[in-house]
Amino acid sequence: MSVLEDNIRKLDGYLNRFRDGGIANRIAGQDTAGSGGVFQSTSPVDKSVICDVAHGTSEDIDKAANAAHDAFAAWRDLPALERKKILIRIAEGIEARAEEIALCECWDTGQAYKFMSKAALRGAENFRYFADQVVQARDGQHLKSPTLMNITTRVPIGPVGVITPWNTPFMLSTWKIAPALAAGCTVVHKPAEASPLTARLLVEIAEEAGLPAGVLNTVNGFGEDAGKALCEHPKIKAIAFVGESRTGSLITKQGADTLKRNHLELGGKNPVIVFDDADLDRALDAAIFMIYSINGERCTSSSRLLVQDTIREEFETKLIERVNRIKVGHPLDPTTEIGPLVTEEHFNKVTSYFDIAKQDGATVAAGGEVVGDEGYFVRPTLFTDADNQMRISQEEIFGPVLTSIAFRTEEEALQIANDIPYGLTGYVWTNDLTRALRFTDRLEAGMIWVNSENVRHLPTPFGGVKASGIGRDGGDWSFEFYMEQKHIGFATGQHKITKLGAN
Ligand code: NAD
Repeated sequence: MSVLEDNIRKLDGYLNRFRDGGIANRIAGQDTAGSGGVFQSTSPVDKSVICDVAHGTSEDIDKAANAAHDAFAAWRDLPALERKKILIRIAEGIEARAEEIALCECWDTGQAYKFMSKAALRGAENFRYFADQVVQARDGQHLKSPTLMNITTRVPIGPVGVITPWNTPFMLSTWKIAPALAAGCTVVHKPAEASPLTARLLVEIAEEAGLPAGVLNTVNGFGEDAGKALCEHPKIKAIAFVGESRTGSLITKQGADTLKRNHLELGGKNPVIVFDDADLDRALDAAIFMIYSINGERCTSSSRLLVQDTIREEFETKLIERVNRIKVGHPLDPTTEIGPLVTEEHFNKVTSYFDIAKQDGATVAAGGEVVGDEGYFVRPTLFTDADNQMRISQEEIFGPVLTSIAFRTEEEALQIANDIPYGLTGYVWTNDLTRALRFTDRLEAGMIWVNSENVRHLPTPFGGVKASGIGRDGGDWSFEFYMEQKHIGFATGQHKITKLGAN
């Protein structure tokens, strides 16, 4: 039996329970039907129905927000070491079920097993990392003044909403939920409607690890009803959101009446800038990895290649050769590098750019075609002869599609890199240290790597500028979002209190 056949057999075993029972909402530790009935989850691999999913609406969100509200005080007040132990047990539970998570994620989203097996384990790492921060999370400072002993402390903000997208849903959910729980918040999670499977596995693992009922609640449903209701709910104190920039604006508007605190991780159209003095082989590997891994459905993807004109021809020739050799196939085949795109709607969006590129006058130098008609497969695509004003250069395509733009000088590269509404990541390839310093200083992006692809280190700040987001995750930055700073001043008794009405 091949590894692919074996993975399909294993997946079949894991999916049986979903086929039989569907996916319920999980509220206060109970399976709960959706007030809106059910919707169906389908696989992008062959368009088959996976299972029924509870269609949560504002009624279910209300129940879940109340459950999170009721569970909050006890979770907040549980000794830090107890909360830490539970988070570590969640990490262990994820590790024990990593294969199940990865296979289900691949089937639900079309992501290749090659990457999803690692993403499942990164979910466990997120829990381990924030478990280690639990004890210090509430620590503060001592800021002495002449007449007061001032101290600061941090307290969890309360029940929070977590709204996640479909691209790497399990890993991204843990990235938000782990620090929220570590801070002492309770959570209502609204996963993306296109990828509900692994959110269900996460809440199960968490409860089996001893997370008290109501601390993590999962409500499936659509953005315009369940998601909106979560943003509007008065008992939800903050929304941690990952998704498109235009949805980020809606989140802000929807939360205005309840003065919601929002953390927005949004879209990107990130430049990888290759100067002619760079290590071109490594730059090529990294540029290819950052746009064609994870189906290009990656917020930090390097979707705009800015290449110096002196090396453009040589670089693009090598690029085309490699792109044409990328293996598109069944996501459960461990050698597959690109699987199908997540939904029909997204497939239609991505493939529409094949014509847009031609209309704009660019060249389709590789790919630009669909593969078969069983699922939503496309060839990895490269557009050349592009300029930065074309739609293929300005719009987030969110697929395995790269636009190459030539530049002459450092100044021109910077101008092109910044001439975009987004500002999530940037990748700079040069061996000139002072140029790297100058360039990164002026590049408008929340995260920049020099001579590297995106290598995530959990204590570093993660987030974007401009239309790519507001707020940072990672390290203590996560706690800044999920917690409130409090100042308490203790008078030493000597200062003069101004007397009114005393004369
Ligand atoms: P999306 O914005 O369509 O949906 C994301 C989530 O928001 C889903 O759960 C959806 O149901 C919900 N939603 C939709 N409308 C809503 C509303 N009015 N109120 C509340 N919730 C609502 O995004 P997507 O298509 O699922 O994901 C792809 C996008 O996510 C891309 O733009 C990508 O760049 C972005 N993304 C960003 C990061 C980052 O860290 N910056 C990471 C991953 C993905």
